[in-house]
Amino acid sequence: MAIEAAHYVIATGSAPWAPSIDGLAEAGYLTSATAMELDRLPASLIVVGGNAVGLEQAQLFARLGVQVNVVEALERLAPFEEPEVSAVIEDVFHSEGIAVHTGATVTTVRRDKGGYTLTAAHAGEATELRAEKLLVATGRRPVTDGLGLEAVGVKTGERGEIVVDAHLRTCNERIWAAGDVTEHPQLVYVAGAHGTLVADNALDGAGRTLDYHHLPRVTFTSPAIAAAGLTDAQAVARGYACDCRVLPLEYVPRALVNRDTRGLIKLVAEAGTGRLLGTHVIAEGAGDVIATAVYALANAMTVQQMADLWCPYLTMAEGLKLVAQTYTRDVAKLSCCAS
Ligand SMILES: Cc1cc2nc3c(=O)[nH]c(=O)nc-3n(C[C@H](O)[C@H](O)[C@H](O)COP(=O)(O)OP(=O)(O)OC[C@H]3O[C@@H](n4cnc5c(N)ncnc54)[C@H](O)[C@@H]3O)c2cc1C
Repeated sequence: MAIEAAHYVIATGSAPWAPSIDGLAEAGYLTSATAMELDRLPASLIVVGGNAVGLEQAQLFARLGVQVNVVEALERLAPFEEPEVSAVIEDVFHSEGIAVHTGATVTTVRRDKGGYTLTAAHAGEATELRAEKLLVATGRRPVTDGLGLEAVGVKTGERGEIVVDAHLRTCNERIWAAGDVTEHPQLVYVAGAHGTLVADNALDGAGRTLDYHHLPRVTFTSPAIAAAGLTDAQAVARGYACDCRVLPLEYVPRALVNRDTRGLIKLVAEAGTGRLLGTHVIAEGAGDVIATAVYALANAMTVQQMADLWCPYLTMAEGLKLVAQTYTRDVAKLSCCAS
């Protein structure tokens, strides 16, 4: 069937990607999608990958009673978040009985009747792990194979992503791309924004672009992890002199009332001006807190302005005001709320 149009949008998304590991392809493994289709819980599970998808699914299975091991090649869980955030989620995982192996690279995978045996190299030592099931959550790659893109002059990059300009137009002026199939962050709200942008640009010649600077991200663990803007290290790499503050949730009334003070809020600000550069949260409801921080970031607010604004008592977002106040006062001495 041939369908012709004035413009075309490629929105074929992404698919799970696994690194080349000896024996992995032959052994077979679960992905984030097939793991949700199991009709019986395994007794044990190894999750390879300690970023958003791996963390969410590791905790889900552990809470269902599965013995879970997480193996992450980088030095910490949630490796692209602030180190303080990684430390909290590692503590949470330990307290829930999830075994964490960081700085561990899986080198071989073998499967027999009883399940999987993995070998992981850690600091020159080989560790062997066994489990009934194996879930590989090491990222996703754009789906472009078999589309015949070369024939119409649409270029792809190293990871298979479709090369687009800021208007999401490909190298063929009548073909556009949106969502995970591009190089942009793999988030549903990015894909949605791309869809409307492409419609405006392709059909109305709007010439619209998107600003990704304050794009928030949330990992739905419990407590959840959320961030927007720069990390401390990213800010320093861009030449900022940073002034950062970390507020443990023991100082946030909502967390005390929840009887769950696992977590923290970290602000990254420019030294001297106090302009907010990044916000990092690990807390129940972190996604709602970060939505507030996006407004502050997008409006170039200073920590002083954040400290002076109204914020309702007994909300987790009040933690943002409290951490902003730590720049000038000792919040441990406040009588009740962030006033
Ligand atoms: C486990 C998991 C959890 C996630 N959690 C979140 C979250 O909490 N928040 C968030 O914002 N994002 C989350 N994401 C990411 C989010 O799902 C993606 O960013 C979003 O779905 C991308 O939308 P898309 O339209 O680009 O691609 P997709 O949603 O992948 O849609 C692409 C569609 O194209 C179809 N297709 C592919 N090839 C062809 C072809 N040749 N012909 C016809 N159809 C084709 C596919 O079948 C698919 O239906 C998560 C992803 C995963 C895997």
